[in-house]
Amino acid sequence: MFSKDYIEIEERYGAHNYHPLPVVLAKGKGVYVWDVEGKQYFDFLSAYSAVNQGHCHPKIIDALKEQAETLTLTSRAFHNDQLGPYEKYITEYFGYDKVLPMNSGAEAVETALKLARRWGYDKKGIEENKAKIIVCEGNFHGRTITIISMSTDPDSFKGFGPYTPGFEVIPYNDIPALEKALEDTNVAGFLVEPIQGEAGVYVPEEGYLKKAYDLCKSKNVLFIADEVQTGIARTGKLLASDHEGVKPDILILGKALSGGVLPVSAVLANDEIMLVIKPGEHGSTFGGNPLACKVAIAALEVVKDEKLAENAERLGIIFRDELKKFDNPMIELVRGKGLLNAIVIKPTNGKQALDVCVKMAENGLLAKPTHQHIIRFAPPLVISEEQLREAIEIIKKSINEMSQ
Ligand code: PLP
Repeated sequence: MFSKDYIEIEERYGAHNYHPLPVVLAKGKGVYVWDVEGKQYFDFLSAYSAVNQGHCHPKIIDALKEQAETLTLTSRAFHNDQLGPYEKYITEYFGYDKVLPMNSGAEAVETALKLARRWGYDKKGIEENKAKIIVCEGNFHGRTITIISMSTDPDSFKGFGPYTPGFEVIPYNDIPALEKALEDTNVAGFLVEPIQGEAGVYVPEEGYLKKAYDLCKSKNVLFIADEVQTGIARTGKLLASDHEGVKPDILILGKALSGGVLPVSAVLANDEIMLVIKPGEHGSTFGGNPLACKVAIAALEVVKDEKLAENAERLGIIFRDELKKFDNPMIELVRGKGLLNAIVIKPTNGKQALDVCVKMAENGLLAKPTHQHIIRFAPPLVISEEQLREAIEIIKKSINEMSQ
């Protein structure tokens, strides 16, 4: 079968809830993926930052294989010998008292919302069913009904109502708006992405997170960071919140927690928050399964052992410098932090961001537009400077070819 055949059967038998580039991948290693015809590409999406450690990292795959042959799932009806050690490891790694393991990012966000609401009732004394969570315009936290209820993107929410109440949307990167919203004593939490990834890699002003955190503290409101995309070394620090020395009350992680091997997510918090949820009040059949625990430890070890945050920080500067120097009318703006970057494309000669992505794929680099005019560039963090420079040349060449 060829690429075209695989695309046809997906179209015929799969739901049409994605619009992928016409590339069919069959193999991955480090920063590279190969299609079914054997063509090699730089992967500059990294499965939306789930593959920070690179495709099929040998240490993570070894952990997966070893545990897969031993014990994969027990449910939480029983203890398993991998969960406790993983819980100890991840809480020490990120500096929290407790972790609640889940699978997808959206589930972890849901967990954080439940925690914040329950904390609001039990600890803050908010009247039952009155708890409010403040969120930001342009947010992306996943696809469940509750999560899309706080989305401002019609593609996400339109036609899926009725929606879950209890959210107030304020502009992102707007401290006065937050200050005003926090006047309501029913607010339990402020949920924020330290950089808005899906919205197009919107980096807030320096100091925004710290100011927002301090305001939350002054109002006894939980600062909840969704670091599903920005966390685990992507932005040049272990967490994007670290850039401003902020320690979220509730930290949400996913994606790269498994190095892209299986869905593993987590919510971290200290005891006074985490222990408001009691046995039987929350959970998931697969959350905390031994396979996930073993893989997540290996994935987190790779991040430290291979100094991926430092690499992202250093190479991110090169990436942005090189593209800012590149003089082409199609490039309106380059922004980002670490190796989470984006170019805002000015449509030229009738060519849009998607056309640039198709051209880049032809030239051996995969990236995907987010919204119509923004291209996100997020390679695996194991990328070397030489590979990065080669990739930058492909990006420049493709944009030149499109703008001529
Ligand atoms: N939160 C953020 C910031 C994300 O970027 C995403 C996915 O892109 C999610 C949550 C949802 O994660 P998942 O797709 O694993 O449910």
